[in-house]
Amino acid sequence: MSIDASTATAAELDAADPLAEFRNYFELPEGVYFVGNSLGALPRAARDFVTTEFDRWSTLGVEGHMTGDLAWVSYHDLVTDQLARIVGGHADEVVAMNGLTVNLHLLMVSFYRPTAERHKILIEGHAFPSDHFAVESQIRQRGFDPEQSLVLIEPREGEDALRTEDILATIAEHGDELALVMLPGVQYYTGQVLPMAEIAAAGHAVGAMVGLDLAHAVGNVELELHEWGVDFAAWCSYKYLNSGPGGVAGAFVHRRHVNDQTLPKFLGWWGTNPSTRFEMATEFDAIPTVESWQLTNAPVLSMAALRASLDIIDRAGGVATMRAKSELQIAYFDRRLAETMTGRIRNLTPQLMTERGCQFALQVIGGGGKDVFDQLIEAHMHCDWREPDVIRVAPVPLYNSFADIDNFVETLDRIMS
Ligand SMILES: *Cc1c(COP(=O)(O)O)cnc(C)c1O
Repeated sequence: MSIDASTATAAELDAADPLAEFRNYFELPEGVYFVGNSLGALPRAARDFVTTEFDRWSTLGVEGHMTGDLAWVSYHDLVTDQLARIVGGHADEVVAMNGLTVNLHLLMVSFYRPTAERHKILIEGHAFPSDHFAVESQIRQRGFDPEQSLVLIEPREGEDALRTEDILATIAEHGDELALVMLPGVQYYTGQVLPMAEIAAAGHAVGAMVGLDLAHAVGNVELELHEWGVDFAAWCSYKYLNSGPGGVAGAFVHRRHVNDQTLPKFLGWWGTNPSTRFEMATEFDAIPTVESWQLTNAPVLSMAALRASLDIIDRAGGVATMRAKSELQIAYFDRRLAETMTGRIRNLTPQLMTERGCQFALQVIGGGGKDVFDQLIEAHMHCDWREPDVIRVAPVPLYNSFADIDNFVETLDRIMS
């Protein structure tokens, strides 16, 4: 796309958008749906994918587990390659399983191995509460005290985003006391993209493990987990991967660890060799991939819906194509806010394109943000409110148009005038 978001109109940008037709693959609520960062839109085809499984259940009953290409025992394999492309991993490193917080716990069982000398976990001070709770409880579970073992990194006074130099300095400062660095790929509140490759390198340089929460990164920005050498990662799929409420989560374990049978691990029958699993022996024969972290048979109906979305992402050309459009949308949204809302709205999201995903974190200057938010919702401008004072807004390249951005900014302007 050579069209320039700093001068073109929304109509021109939509006309030149190679993904414009993809909006038709989704069912969207009335108005402008800018909340795919919280719950992605429904892919039309998800109805068919789920209905297929209802039909198989109806006609095959329990035999659906073992029958055909869609056999439920291996249904999770149907999404592995697509998820691996999205996160920049290999098929043996990626699996769809459980929920995000569950996966964080399971992966910390393996990758947080505190000793008297090395027992600290570094997270953000403003981590998503579930991540904070998971980490705190892991520290206690191992007999350590969050007072001593939990290191929180915050933006500087008066700043909203974390500085790379501060992250790297904090990692270095705690050095050989640091067991695990666990940070988000994209921060859920500000929308900041963290320097994931640099974090992985810095964590490894001091001998720590490095894990990422990719809830807001997956399907939003390009990821290269294998190349970056990240030890593990987890994500949910109901945000930018459009799998629907409570959709199955994902996990990544780097190839260097997947077949390491010395790692502590919580076990379940879904992690053992599928060719002998149903012999019901009690000797665990680990699958030599990340699949050995699976505990339990996976939610087929949820994975069916996810498949519909992953097919759309493939047809779109993958995250790289989506991101190219997203960058134009970000630039256009920046421009429209600058033209219309200067002095009234402030965006906390970093301005540098490499440091932001599709989400904007808008603050009403002078307060009253909650009231503005309530009126946006009334006008069918779907966005969300995050305490204490941010309206999160996410134009999603798969189904949002440039006209949506105009519509949103014009409505915001009207509400605040
Ligand atoms: C959305 C989100 C969660 C949600 O966790 P679930 O286990 O899926 O309920 C957790 N952490 C982060 C950073 C999130 O953005």
